Amino acid sequence: MVVVATDPTSINLKVGFEIHQQLATKSKLFCNCRCKEVEKYGLTFIRRLRPTRSELGVYDNTAIFEFKKMRTIKYHSAPDASCLVEADEEPPHQVNREALEAALVFSLALCSKVADEMHVMRKIVIDGSNTSGFQRTMLVATGGYLDVNSRRIGVQTICLEEDAAKLISDDGTIREYGLDRLGVPLVEIALEPIKGEPEEMKQIALTLGRLLRASKRVVRGLGSIRQDVNISIDNGAIVEVKGVQQLDQLTKVIKYEMLRQHGLLLISQKLKHDRKPEEIAIGDRIEDVTDIMKKSSSKIIKTLFAENDNLFKAIRIKGFDGILGFEPYPDIRIGKQLSELVGFYDIGGIFHSDELPNYGITKDEVDTVKKRLEIVTNNDAFIIIGGHNDKVKLAVESIIQRLKASLNGVPAETRSATLEGKTIYSRPRPGAARMYPETDISPIPINKSILDSLANNVPASWNDVIDTLSKKFNLNKKLAVQIFDSDYLDIFQEIVKSTKIQPTFIASKLTEDIVGLKRRGLDITTLNNDIIFDIFKKLDAGIIAKESITWIFEKLMKKESKTPDEAIAVLGITQISDQELQIKIDDILRENMSIIVDKKMGALGMLMGRSMDILRGKADGQKINSMIKVKLEEILKSDITTEE
Ligand SMILES: [Zn+2]
Repeated sequence: MVVVATDPTSINLKVGFEIHQQLATKSKLFCNCRCKEVEKYGLTFIRRLRPTRSELGVYDNTAIFEFKKMRTIKYHSAPDASCLVEADEEPPHQVNREALEAALVFSLALCSKVADEMHVMRKIVIDGSNTSGFQRTMLVATGGYLDVNSRRIGVQTICLEEDAAKLISDDGTIREYGLDRLGVPLVEIALEPIKGEPEEMKQIALTLGRLLRASKRVVRGLGSIRQDVNISIDNGAIVEVKGVQQLDQLTKVIKYEMLRQHGLLLISQKLKHDRKPEEIAIGDRIEDVTDIMKKSSSKIIKTLFAENDNLFKAIRIKGFDGILGFEPYPDIRIGKQLSELVGFYDIGGIFHSDELPNYGITKDEVDTVKKRLEIVTNNDAFIIIGGHNDKVKLAVESIIQRLKASLNGVPAETRSATLEGKTIYSRPRPGAARMYPETDISPIPINKSILDSLANNVPASWNDVIDTLSKKFNLNKKLAVQIFDSDYLDIFQEIVKSTKIQPTFIASKLTEDIVGLKRRGLDITTLNNDIIFDIFKKLDAGIIAKESITWIFEKLMKKESKTPDEAIAVLGITQISDQELQIKIDDILRENMSIIVDKKMGALGMLMGRSMDILRGKADGQKINSMIKVKLEEILKSDITTEE
């Protein structure tokens, strides 16, 4: 296996961002519902979307397949976060001015040219994520730029659009969505693709995110900002990766795509080097091999026969022997790419000749398949695929298309980001979606006076924002940056306002401590603002000690406790009264009298250690320390040495 460190400049890595940021408006884009995520839904209703063939015209067979396989869509309405507009039972209301203003402010901040009139358009969506079958969007501005360090990054477009419904589940037959998120205003900012290093790309995303957050007009927290990233390298095609939510994930995704795309290029180079063009033929022979597979004792094959009507096809791929399993980088090989591809058709994977005999498929069975496909040279490969008739038929077509594309290296496609920072195939890249005017809403003129009145609202520069924050709360610059970049700025300010706790302490708990716990792989989503507020209120009321905060965070993040109260009970860290504390300290000192006699004030450290072992979390460390000191001085003054 060849492992070469891929150098972003030598392969000309090019990345374009499309950021989708939820706006913190009082109500949704086209109705008066509040923008909030709910946990409990009320009414449910079922729809079957039926876009016409002409509406789907821009999509190819695979997209139509995807639409067909989604048989029923169940929507869950949220009584206090959705109404008849989200249910598509009532026309949209006029555009939310607050949201429009936010989009205009961002356009001004990015020196983008605002359109004279906003036209609401309908963009067809086929996945059921909108009850109406389309997403409403409007172009707000074009052009402009973002300065990142000393580099100027061009802005392509700024749009204002409605967020999609939230996918709750999809079992293959019923897809369920929550309507609370549908209609939440989003600003979409597309940047010009640029060349550079993955770390630089992270800086760009960070800078744009900071600019948006400095306006105080956007929602914070996981899921409130989503990035689609277009990634390409020299001699490749553009790959769109959807659903990147975090900056660390972004860097990993870009690095993974660099390797994957460069790996695919290396594979195509190997193919060109090892084989003459006339030796290559993809899918020139496809045979039904159900009868051969039926006799196999392979467990995987047997499972596939458990379902009715399942069949097996074998595809001959001339010239590909040694290519399907070739791995220029760990786990980057055509065989794996094809397995991801057939997943789109609900097929678990493929078997290819570079990995056979294996999986219980014997050499005899392999030879029989080869014979059926009339494979005579050692250069030729084959693929076996099994599943439901219709799905296998489409999957075979896709495999052949994909292998033909592999001659040129990287195929254009849409992939989705995983939490670990890899990408997996999601669908072929659709053509530009068709847009239709939204007839229910008339165009909105934007005149100069509107823009002039908004000019004062352009967010202050990043440095000013951090300076103000640091002065206001007496935080050092590092902590001010950390709390600003975190998801907890709002709750931080709320805690400062409603308690007597030092802002520096709150900020460090909400940044360094939480980041530390997150690095250990714990789930931060269990710590919502209400829970965090509750914990700090308990500290303020003297119910818990400062030391306990992180332990409670940890219990909750590990899901070992559901509420702060439960965590406190399990940890046994209820703060004890000063009187009880004094009794405990007296006991500890009495038990260690011989050491006190021996070491005098030098025993303080040891006594503190013993006390913390017993009292950690039950009282403030500083308080314990000063109580021991007072008591120790008292004992030493009473001249204990003469007592004997
Ligand atoms: Zn509504």
